[in-house]
Amino acid sequence: MDCVFCRIVKGELPARVVYEDEQVMAFHDINPQAPIHVLLIPKRHVENLSEEIPPELAHALVRGIRETVRRLNVRDYRIISNSGRDAGQEVFHLHFHIIAGLELPPDTV
Ligand code: 5GP
Ligand code: ZN
Repeated sequence: MDCVFCRIVKGELPARVVYEDEQVMAFHDINPQAPIHVLLIPKRHVENLSEEIPPELAHALVRGIRETVRRLNVRDYRIISNSGRDAGQEVFHLHFHIIAGLELPPDTV
């Protein structure tokens, strides 16, 4: 399987890593849509949130968001996860966009 985020996890592609532990990794988006735009991913390949996520990994993801935000030194931020092609998902390896550093536009939801 040729997955760009799996290649980043393996170190085959470079990334500006913000946070990493055994289960998750956070790195700057290559095409930022805000002053701070970081992606938090599980190290093991999961397609998106429609897949079953074991509780331990779910916890690691939430903790990883918190740790990443702490390292970014921001107070307010927005989390987005596009799940499926019609929702705008382009990379089919689960990721949470962590967006901050600007006055965020109004919610679309
Ligand atoms: P999606 O549209 O799937 O929710 O978001 C995919 C995100 O991955 C996009 O914001 C895109 O800029 C980012 N991205 C795609 N390829 C790479 C890459 O090779 N490195 C990094 N750091 N980000 C990437
Ligand atoms: Zn992958």
